[in-house]
Amino acid sequence: MATPSRKAGRRIRVLLPLPLEGAYDYRLPPDLVAGPGSFVEVPLGGRVSLGVVWDDLENPEPIAESRLREVISVKPAPAMRENLRRLVDWVAAYTLSPPGAVLRMAMSSPSALEEPTAISGWRRVEGAEARLTPDRAKALEALGTHILPGTEIARAAGVSMGVVRGMASVGLIEPALLPRAGAFPRPIPDFAPPTLREEQALAAAALREGVISHEFGVTLLEGVTGSGKTEVYLDAVAQCLREGRQALVLLPEIALSTQWLSRFERRFGAPPALWHSELTSRTRRVTWRAVAEGDAPVLVGARSALFLPFPDLGLIIVDEEHETAFKQEEGVIYHARDMAVVRARLESAACVLVSATPSLESVTNAQEGRYAHVTLPNRHHGAALPRIEALDLRQHPPERGRFLAPPLVDAVRETMARGEQAMLFLNRRGYAPLTLCRTCGHRMQCPNCTAWLVEHRAQRRLQCHHCGHTEPTPLACSECGTEHSLVPIGPGVERIQEEVAELFPEARRLVMASDTIPGPAAAAEAARRIEEREVDLIIGTQIVAKGWHFAHLTLVGVVDADLGLAGGDLRAGERTLQLLHQVAGRAGREGSTPGTVLLQTFSPEHPVMAALIADDMPGFLKAEAAQRAPGHWPPFGRLAALIVSSEDARAAERTSRDLGLSAPTGQGIQVLGPAPAPLALLRGRHRHRLLLKAERGIRVQPLVHDWLARTPIPREVRVQVDVDPVGFL
Ligand code: ADP
Ligand code: ZN
Repeated sequence: MATPSRKAGRRIRVLLPLPLEGAYDYRLPPDLVAGPGSFVEVPLGGRVSLGVVWDDLENPEPIAESRLREVISVKPAPAMRENLRRLVDWVAAYTLSPPGAVLRMAMSSPSALEEPTAISGWRRVEGAEARLTPDRAKALEALGTHILPGTEIARAAGVSMGVVRGMASVGLIEPALLPRAGAFPRPIPDFAPPTLREEQALAAAALREGVISHEFGVTLLEGVTGSGKTEVYLDAVAQCLREGRQALVLLPEIALSTQWLSRFERRFGAPPALWHSELTSRTRRVTWRAVAEGDAPVLVGARSALFLPFPDLGLIIVDEEHETAFKQEEGVIYHARDMAVVRARLESAACVLVSATPSLESVTNAQEGRYAHVTLPNRHHGAALPRIEALDLRQHPPERGRFLAPPLVDAVRETMARGEQAMLFLNRRGYAPLTLCRTCGHRMQCPNCTAWLVEHRAQRRLQCHHCGHTEPTPLACSECGTEHSLVPIGPGVERIQEEVAELFPEARRLVMASDTIPGPAAAAEAARRIEEREVDLIIGTQIVAKGWHFAHLTLVGVVDADLGLAGGDLRAGERTLQLLHQVAGRAGREGSTPGTVLLQTFSPEHPVMAALIADDMPGFLKAEAAQRAPGHWPPFGRLAALIVSSEDARAAERTSRDLGLSAPTGQGIQVLGPAPAPLALLRGRHRHRLLLKAERGIRVQPLVHDWLARTPIPREVRVQVDVDPVGFL
């Protein structure tokens, strides 16, 4: 048998967007040019896969030269820049995810890499160090700061194409697309800026300074609802545009942020580029490409926008930084707010975290001097903050079969009589959260989850809000067979809307929940109807809490302020406070009429209600901190959760027990569990949880890594790692 001859070409390492342990080695044939960050097509098993040249990653199992397979092609797309590659590595290491799984998020539009008409060129890699032969020096000089096709570099410098290829292979130059007409109009920094009032101007100046410095820094912008935070950070965006760098704004509910978008357009004379899950694949492709080529000066997006290929990011804004929507709970489990800070550091960019009710994490970072802290204590237009009152349900019980207490009903009536709008808030979709048989007491439960089925009366169906299971609402109890015996227990927004329809048949009502407002068009239409006063009464879930500015809304009634306080969640109080404060902030935003907020509650003395009524967020956070600090709970300690799941109940339990036995021990380390998860069954999988708690100075990643390495995990069991968990289900 003939020994395979050593073929020509260079060995390169390629990271594939797959959940594999490391990167793979390939041979780059001499007729292809690729450097670190180039997108390449490579064979993988019997398939062809797209990957990125990742020359700077260790390969634990280097493959023999003779078995190397060849790179098939190099994509004519801008290379993934070093900053973004480092972000991928960083997120993978921090979240204990395979780097390829993180890379996948940075390759969210593979078709954007195909640009048949585009001609690709090369640009200099700033700060790259490699041997500079006289020819290479000449070529670099000819290239300057431009992007030029390889043939042109060779001609201008009087060197051969071999020199250009050599420079690419050592990373002195990288592929880049030749500039062409921008896909997005440039927002104009001074198109229509508002006149900022003094406290806003001071805050804006501080943010601008951070942008001008081209240095990494984080600022917490804290201001009461309606104080004009948005105008302030848009001023920083304007400065970023003047600097010629790109700006990224992360919003928690981008698909519903139509008011925000039209405001941006009025301010800058052009819309921003958008990034969220509901874009068509064509829009994704165009946007991804425009971002990569620096043609999208401002991009507004959901958390996934964090992994877009900005060539020169100068500013990242995280609006509503306390929102749990920034936490991705599936696949790579990461917190976009925290990773935004990491990306800003890698890009030498400014990062601004914005909230009326900042997380204890961010407040602590500000107090300890890691973040700058800028505050806006007053509402714009001299509007007063809404008056918040508890409505004690023990003293004012609703009528039988109803959910609105008489004082709230009166307040709604009076508000509408004055020609103003009212809003009823209940963070629960559907008609009733529980359906029960009056005869045998049976409760309708999801077959796949530890959860009750929620009645959606309009569709005549029962629905699981965890797995999406639905079934027609049965006529008879599935347990005892009695007909007409099933009764709805408790309210959802549909049931509240039914109640107000009986109370105020004349009122024009609008239900705002994710199933009635499924996307941007519906959100825009809802906002228009409210602004043009075609609606008297809004009934909504948490989607009404965020960002909206309705000038004529003066009353907010919270149907069940205690919802969300139940359960053992570390942050249940903090989160409930943030949500209710935000909902309350929708009331009375224009100067003329002050807003009123009524909280229906069974425990008006609860610290959350007390803080809302006294408008004392700092006091609440201080008490919260005092409670968490001694036990080293976040942010005064670190957490990592392991979620063990399997379709096989016994396998899940056995593995969780094994993990409990092999749990790390030591000074400042504690492992809680294993225990069945609150959602003990989810989508047909049995679940157990373990929680590792460590003092702040201890890194949890190596502990978890070693823990998993020494515990055998059978194939039918999945162990998910959640570093810094925010949900405890
Ligand atoms: P926040 O984001 O803090 O809740 P907004 O930025 O939405 O507050 O501001 C509340 C309202 O006040 C908006 O209608 C906004 O356009 C208006 N506003 C804020 N600052 C100014 C300003 N300097 N000039 C004119 N209008 C302003
Ligand atoms: Zn279910």
